Amino acid sequence: MKVINPATGAVIAEVDADDAAAVRNKYAVARAAQPRWAAVPIRKRLEAIAKFRENIVARHEALARTLTSEVGKPIRQSRNELNGLLGRIDFFLAEAVGALREEKIYADPTQKLDERITHEPLGVIANISAWNYPYFVGSNVFVPALVSGNAVLYKPSEFATLTGLHIADMLHEAGVPRDVFVPVIGDGATGAALTRQPVDGIFFTGSYATGAKIAAAAARRMVKVQLELGGKDPIYVCDDVDVQAAAAAVADGAFYNTGQSCCSVERIYVHESIHDAFVAAFVAEVKSYKIGDPMDESTYIGAITRRPQLDVLKQQVADAKKKGAKLLTGGGVIRGKGNWFEPTVFTGVDHSMAMMRDESFGPIIGIQSVADDDAAVDLMNDTEYGLTAGVYTNDDKRARRILKRIHSGSVYWNCCDRVSPRLPWSGVGHSGIGLTLSTYGIQTFTRPKAWHLRSA
Ligand code: NAD
Repeated sequence: MKVINPATGAVIAEVDADDAAAVRNKYAVARAAQPRWAAVPIRKRLEAIAKFRENIVARHEALARTLTSEVGKPIRQSRNELNGLLGRIDFFLAEAVGALREEKIYADPTQKLDERITHEPLGVIANISAWNYPYFVGSNVFVPALVSGNAVLYKPSEFATLTGLHIADMLHEAGVPRDVFVPVIGDGATGAALTRQPVDGIFFTGSYATGAKIAAAAARRMVKVQLELGGKDPIYVCDDVDVQAAAAAVADGAFYNTGQSCCSVERIYVHESIHDAFVAAFVAEVKSYKIGDPMDESTYIGAITRRPQLDVLKQQVADAKKKGAKLLTGGGVIRGKGNWFEPTVFTGVDHSMAMMRDESFGPIIGIQSVADDDAAVDLMNDTEYGLTAGVYTNDDKRARRILKRIHSGSVYWNCCDRVSPRLPWSGVGHSGIGLTLSTYGIQTFTRPKAWHLRSA
């Protein structure tokens, strides 16, 4: 399998992909190894994760450069991802023992009755990952899964394979046995082969389309399936904000990671009384973004990682123009080597347009004027997705009133495009089922076992 730099189109590496037979063998190896790993005391498993963290710190710059070269992410944003990863690992190191401790639920000495819950590892799990934040979406699964005693068959995205192999090396060097954390290398066909193995859980991060296929493939097997999928995340900007500050913050939420975040801002609604001022400030901000070589320290907009996404972006732009939206900046593919799309802003959009309904996953955004909070809430909820949503206002009560009515896994007041390891990360509707992060996202890799104990 060829690894291609999306910024230049150059082949930067070739790796061996796993065929169906190789995937079967890897499953068998992990199945045999898992009970031994589950028997290792949790403190020892945590020591291995702490060593993994040290390995990341030691190789930080080289890892950031590899990530940038294979996904086209600006180098500063690759470093940010690695720094964020360290914080997530710290959360798991601090919380795992408490989250996985045996719970004494009830005791009645008169009846000699004792009721407890233990958190048992699921067994062997498949961790099928996306490329846009490979360190984040991978570690949300494999760190707590390993800590809680599971063996992990880890399939990085075919667009982040080198990063996936680095992760495997660093875990193995840290003391996680090679047969307990097993990288599975390849594209969708390899992923599909992995979902056919009799694993005890499938933890997937990726698109709704692939998530639906995985749910169907696993339906008859009665195993845990967690799907962290896409979004069409809205922001509503109220009439009482500092327009310049809100425009800069929301533009960053829409264009950071070149718009290729699951929780990128994908739709903007602005109160009509500040619409024009907001749009002017927003477009000025977007025009200030530096686009170019992702290895350049000052680059903010990088390459489009998957070449086919350029067609999705072109179609959304053409559809919006045809239906009467007004293009304020950008609007097209940047010709030359690699995959590039101009940062693009539309106003005069509505929900008949694909740009306001389907995930764009790129540097394009539509801004729609709304008359009041009720209209904004109706539009924000008018989606099959429900990953995140946010509101910008100076009024705490107004924010809570609005956010209470929003159907999404996460809600934001005066912030956006944000993930916290302390809070559950989950979606509603086509954004998926299940969760990662928080203490629930540690327990999710276990099954609660009920102990009914009556002494003689
Ligand atoms: P994708 O669905 O194309 O691929 C994801 C993974 O699934 C890859 O490893 C791929 O090889 C594998 N795969 C493809 N077909 C498969 C099949 N039939 N069976 C099993 N595995 C298969 O998604 P992507 O392009 O890697 O990621 C982008 C998508 O991920 C966007 O929709 C984004 O919003 C979403 N995402 C969601 C979150 C979240 O936390 N909710 C985080 C990051 C990305």
